[in-house]
Amino acid sequence: MPQILTQNQGERVAFESLDVELHNVFKFFNQYPAVHGVDLNVKQGEFFSILGPSGCGKTTMLRLIAGFETADAGKVVIQSQSMTNVPPYRRPVNTVFQSYALFNHLNVWDNVAFGLRLKKIRRAEIQSRVQEALELVKMEGLRSRVPSQLSGGQQQRVALARALVNRPAVLLLDEPLGALDLKLRKEMQVELSNLHKELTLTFIMVTHDQEEALSLSDRIAVMNQGKIEQIGSPSEIYEQPRTPFVADFIGDTNLFEGEIAGIDGSNVIISTKTRLSIVVKRQQDTPTEISQPVVVSVRPEKIQLSLYKPSLQTNCFEGRLINIMYLGTHVNYIVQLTNGLRITVLQPNTFGNLPSRETPIYAWWAETDCLALVKI
Ligand code: ATP
Repeated sequence: MPQILTQNQGERVAFESLDVELHNVFKFFNQYPAVHGVDLNVKQGEFFSILGPSGCGKTTMLRLIAGFETADAGKVVIQSQSMTNVPPYRRPVNTVFQSYALFNHLNVWDNVAFGLRLKKIRRAEIQSRVQEALELVKMEGLRSRVPSQLSGGQQQRVALARALVNRPAVLLLDEPLGALDLKLRKEMQVELSNLHKELTLTFIMVTHDQEEALSLSDRIAVMNQGKIEQIGSPSEIYEQPRTPFVADFIGDTNLFEGEIAGIDGSNVIISTKTRLSIVVKRQQDTPTEISQPVVVSVRPEKIQLSLYKPSLQTNCFEGRLINIMYLGTHVNYIVQLTNGLRITVLQPNTFGNLPSRETPIYAWWAETDCLALVKI
């Protein structure tokens, strides 16, 4: 197995093995590149999510790993073995689909045992493996029921058991919780996370739900139009998005298009198309070329509001409140700046009385709380 170095707080601490690698993989449908030159390394035991909007190529990427699709160019490698010419059933992976894909005429036990019977595994071993898989997903008590007698969450557990009973090295999850209602989805997220910790398997999950990806994953790949825009830990993806697309797709953000007007010590000054001057603290990846087009991203929760003019002059803009949305723990404000631009601000609900619409207000944020990003 290939070894890679990982870093922990700047120190090289451990070697980890790779489970799944994609090398410059392309997949075309009628000349449309559903997957466009993707490079990816998933480490052994990682919970890795592929996140992106509908049609960005997430499922196609998972199907390329599973072997249900063949790459037009590039290579899929699993546990150091090239998967070119390896059919799905010979790959050390199993897929759990959103639709569960259970056999309706078979009961829970037989659904889970089905694959093992096909492989002509000894009866005693089938007994113990099915029992073990059903215990893992807490479904041993309902072993005699058929799928129509189970709830959506219970059917999803059976689908998980049916994949796990094959003892795959990598579990592929295609929108596994997509068919469940919100409450059940939250419960199953916790169970999926516990299962991952218990099994030390590699999980690769496709989802379009950013909250799900942020809460479950060790690392996330954000896809857009067949390409990966960024791979990182949930906090890296949220706090340090590398492109305007990632900033906008993960959570809410205010985006200001403009260009670099100047450098002032450790700050970059951006002049926006809407004639604002925004100061951004320079970081390692901050673009610095004068006149370079950039997009400034400021998260709504990083913006402060004040009824009186604050003493600071940087990134402080005058406007009026045009919408106030009470969200219980938080309040969402829309502020229209004097130049007509509207920004979204999210504040904890700490005030007794909320200000009313049309109240004149100052919106401001620190240079360290905004990023200058380049479109790719
Ligand atoms: P969703 O979240 O809606 O499932 P996705 O990100 O998983 O979307 P894919 O299903 O991978 O996206 O599809 C990527 C692109 O490839 C889409 O434009 C889709 O229409 C196209 N596509 C996928 N499968 C096929 C196919 N078998 N034939 C033709 N086009 C396809």
